[in-house]
Amino acid sequence: MLTWFVDESISTECVSGDRLVRETDITVTADTVHLAASEQNLDIVKCHFEQASWDHVTTIIEKAKTRHWTCKVCVEALETRCVCCDLCLSWLHYHCAALSAVPKKKFWFCVDCAIF
Ligand SMILES: [Zn+2]
Ligand SMILES: [Zn+2]
Repeated sequence: MLTWFVDESISTECVSGDRLVRETDITVTADTVHLAASEQNLDIVKCHFEQASWDHVTTIIEKAKTRHWTCKVCVEALETRCVCCDLCLSWLHYHCAALSAVPKKKFWFCVDCAIF
């Protein structure tokens, strides 16, 4: 789990107890934040973090949790073939949005927003 937040070599050092994760060590991507946000037992890696860096991580995760990580139509988890509505910023699967490929239009609106 540590490698979600820091690179492999730092993770190894921290797990072996040589050091703690500093705020500047932390690098997260959308993917790793998504993983971390769905992890129930995240606290087990807390002991490897300095207090400030742990606060930093939890803030990022809390922000991520408030975003829409599920499809607006079917409420299933998102996958790679998804489209974002440019008005309500909800994500939809292509098949739920009745699309077969990336929309060609510059802006795309979901069914709820398209009526306006
Ligand atoms: Zn869907
Ligand atoms: Zn919309």
